Amino acid sequence: MLEKFFPDLTVDSIYDIEPEILLEKNIRGVILDIDNTLVAMHVRVADDKVVRWIERLKESGLKVCIVSNASKTRVDRFNEKLKVFAVHRASKPGSRGLLKASEYMGLGPEEVAVVGDQLFTDIYGGNRLNMFTVLVKPVDDREVFFVRIKRLPEKIVMRRYHGRSSEDDARRKKWKQDSARRILDRS
Ligand SMILES: [Mg+2]
Repeated sequence: MLEKFFPDLTVDSIYDIEPEILLEKNIRGVILDIDNTLVAMHVRVADDKVVRWIERLKESGLKVCIVSNASKTRVDRFNEKLKVFAVHRASKPGSRGLLKASEYMGLGPEEVAVVGDQLFTDIYGGNRLNMFTVLVKPVDDREVFFVRIKRLPEKIVMRRYHGRSSEDDARRKKWKQDSARRILDRS
């Protein structure tokens, strides 16, 4: 059952995500990962390009939050210019941080997109809650050991993703809905 790790959409970079594409799918809010999604891991503050892109999302009517597994120091510093609602040490794929962000935005999980570079944290975490998941290519290929060891199994999943059938898609859709129901009933 690798479908639970499949994203709903894949893009080369965040700059390929057109707000209109999300709005058409009834998405009203976006949860962003930081490291290797918005910037490389060594970049401490949001650069102008990121700031402008997030402004564009907001101008299109989308709400924007950050949910990161990184430390408070990392997230607070990065968020200085952006000033969006941010959750640090989120323990993705756990649902706590993602739910906190969707509740803050006043949106149901199915109205939220999760954007990230890792299948087993960002994408799986979003899928479990029936959020719309967007996989971006890592900004930088210099990665810490704990991330690097996950890239090989990710490749195996993505090979399956590219060869998926419509039955896989249907099974995945149902799994997402059932999983979200289970988690939301519990919380
Ligand atoms: Mg990341």
